[in-house]
Amino acid sequence: MSSNLPPATAAGAKNKPLSPFRKRGSLQYAASTADLRGARHLLTSQHSLPGIPVALKQSIDLRTSMDGKYKEIAEELFSRTLAESEMRSAPYEFPEDSPIEQLEERRHRLERQISQDVKFEPDILLRAKQEFMKTDSATDLEYMKDQSQDPDLQERDPIPVREYQRVAISGEEKCGVPFTDLLDAAKCVVKALFIRQKYMGLSLQSFCKTTARYLQELSEGPLDLDIYEDEIPETAGAADSTVHPPVSKMHPYENQDLASMPHDMGYGCKMVDGVMHVYTARNIMENCDVANRSTELDLPYPDLREYIADMNVMMALIINGPVKSFCYRRLQYLSSKFQMHILLNEMKELAEQKKVPHRDFYNIRKVDTHIHASSCMNQKHLLRFIKRAMKKYPKEIVHVERGKGQTLMEVFETMNLTAFDLSVDTLDMHADRNTFHRFDKFNAKYNPIGESILREIFIKTDNHIEGKYFGHIIKEVMADLEESKYQNVELRLSIYGRCRDEWDQLAKWAVKHQVYSSNVRWLVQVPRLFDVYHTKKQLCNFQEMLENVFLPLFEVTVDPRSHPELHLFLQHVVGFDSVDDESKPEQHIFNLDSPLPVNWTEEDNPPYSYYLYYMYANMTVLNNLRRQRGFHTLVLRPHCGEAGPIHHLVSGFLLSENISHGLLLRKAPVLQYLYYLAQIGIAMSPLSNNSLFLSYHRNPLPEYLSRGLVVSLSTDDPLQFHFTKEPLMEEYSIAAQVWKLSSCDMCELARNSVLMSGFSQRVKRSWLGPHHIKEGQEGNDIRRTNVPDIRVAYRYETMCEELNLITQAIRTDELETIEEEGSLCMGAVQAEK
Ligand SMILES: [Zn+2]
Repeated sequence: MSSNLPPATAAGAKNKPLSPFRKRGSLQYAASTADLRGARHLLTSQHSLPGIPVALKQSIDLRTSMDGKYKEIAEELFSRTLAESEMRSAPYEFPEDSPIEQLEERRHRLERQISQDVKFEPDILLRAKQEFMKTDSATDLEYMKDQSQDPDLQERDPIPVREYQRVAISGEEKCGVPFTDLLDAAKCVVKALFIRQKYMGLSLQSFCKTTARYLQELSEGPLDLDIYEDEIPETAGAADSTVHPPVSKMHPYENQDLASMPHDMGYGCKMVDGVMHVYTARNIMENCDVANRSTELDLPYPDLREYIADMNVMMALIINGPVKSFCYRRLQYLSSKFQMHILLNEMKELAEQKKVPHRDFYNIRKVDTHIHASSCMNQKHLLRFIKRAMKKYPKEIVHVERGKGQTLMEVFETMNLTAFDLSVDTLDMHADRNTFHRFDKFNAKYNPIGESILREIFIKTDNHIEGKYFGHIIKEVMADLEESKYQNVELRLSIYGRCRDEWDQLAKWAVKHQVYSSNVRWLVQVPRLFDVYHTKKQLCNFQEMLENVFLPLFEVTVDPRSHPELHLFLQHVVGFDSVDDESKPEQHIFNLDSPLPVNWTEEDNPPYSYYLYYMYANMTVLNNLRRQRGFHTLVLRPHCGEAGPIHHLVSGFLLSENISHGLLLRKAPVLQYLYYLAQIGIAMSPLSNNSLFLSYHRNPLPEYLSRGLVVSLSTDDPLQFHFTKEPLMEEYSIAAQVWKLSSCDMCELARNSVLMSGFSQRVKRSWLGPHHIKEGQEGNDIRRTNVPDIRVAYRYETMCEELNLITQAIRTDELETIEEEGSLCMGAVQAEK
């Protein structure tokens, strides 16, 4: 096995000049060497990205047939998304119903196979290849065990590998495509994974540990996984520690004592080209530039050019024919393998669950990973709350109309309504068949009784009553969650970026009304509404919006006492979301010709990837500054791939820790396979989709789950979509019944939801088990998760097999190159004679 690859050969490979006469992969040598170097540089460049944790200097050769053509291919694809042409199948889809393409592909493959077979294969190569083809899951398993023998693991008693029926593929070419296709695809996939790893590392977001380990084998330098983990040390006896996370006795918002807050660092901040820069001094900022440069803090910044280039690489990759069919086949294989696994092990899994005392689906932790605060209560709840408010505070001035205050009673009188008249039907906030593919109609549903004034009074934080009612109703939702104990939510609150004090207002609201629960974490959503505010003359350019969103966060990080409430509130904020209707047509392609944020003064809204890149860039700098101060860091978790062009999912792949929706992955096999290999969390809301974009029976969730993508169930907007008091349970219940999910599937979904959530490692440890960050079944504790070890082991082994297939192909090719170059040198000498 090539895990025993002699180090000498591996090291020797990088020094050898690349032979121009290599026999395989005819296209890949068309590109000029200058192009190749350029393409390589993208991966190896460390100048622009200081602080990359993982050594990206690769000795491996990741050139593919598309090198040097990324830009053209990507631009072609981008412009197609603009044109919205009615294609039979988009270029990134796998055409299942076009026999011509399939026949063509098969013919090419056969030709290549024949030309390959007749060639003389050197002995060493043949042996290497045989080795490669022979690997079946039993040997893979051995291999994995060898690999995981790091000192940390050896200390503990090894958990015996679960006995269950394993599905193994044997024979030559077990992946079903010729070696050249496999190699080209493997290089593309590995390249994409390296790119994601780079962006995750830079922004201090997490990257799948198992994948990182396999990538590491292909590159030089020691693997530093610590950066992805929180600093909590493992303590002895933790295995039996409490299932409930520690609760602090004091209310987290109570301690507003300025003296006890961290001190002021005295730094100054200024936005340059859409990204915040931090300087060691505050007052010299207005003076000349030269002086400022010398005092600038050394923080890592992403490079715009590099991002555009990476975007192009990714775009070209997802429409490459052979890569596409390779990924499609692997995904099909993964589905089929899971069917087999279930067929053989269903009873064993069930038996394992039954053996665990006390634990069942109802008392395992689950997190609603995607839910908006303004619609987190159901209709009946909101209705009751409105009626109660009318009774309790009829004389309270809740609204100012043309300088004149209006009481709650007067507001309802002007609408000609009494408390008795109100019903769920008059409230009319539920999505129905008329909202399907009509996001505009759906947005209007946020207004109770169709009146935006009621929305302002009851579900806003920044109204005349300073969000009093909204705070109360959220606290009622929180109380329900605490009572149910095992359900947790990550509520999204809005920051619009219209003015500088939005963060302070929001924090003041939370602190004043004590809106906090240990079952709740906040995410901050930034709606992509620049065009609206620009038209209303609230913003001149896009940079102003970015400044409004990020400057307060930098200020509070540098000096917590400057925004004391924000400092307290921010401790419970876990990340950013980017929201809006993704199906809105985009008028612009983000490339190097795009105006910088300060010059973005057009009427048009910047495209999705532009928003995401600048949010990512600022978050990266902020996170590194926060890490320096010992504060927690934030992650990017945008709405992505619900509708609209495919490049949203590419941006999401590069920049965000996990995403919401991801529906369009069903059409893009390359991306779906990459989301699988990188184990990117996808928070899915099939009931929400059913009302807006995709009917329930066509939802890809069961398919994703069977393939091993990290999916979780979430509600999105209970106010619009759900009927019961426990919307998350309603979501699980319907999914289980429609798709016939087993209890094991449900528990796996719940475990995924905790893993991808923003709750701290400390909390996750009490919910999932003391070793939850460990790979494979070691990370599982069935007494807490109710997920059988068999299932976890199956997922882990299957993923290792996939990663092994890919990395092995690349290493086998390395071996081949060395041998080949040896013989070619001799051949060349002979030819000269
Ligand atoms: Zn949403």
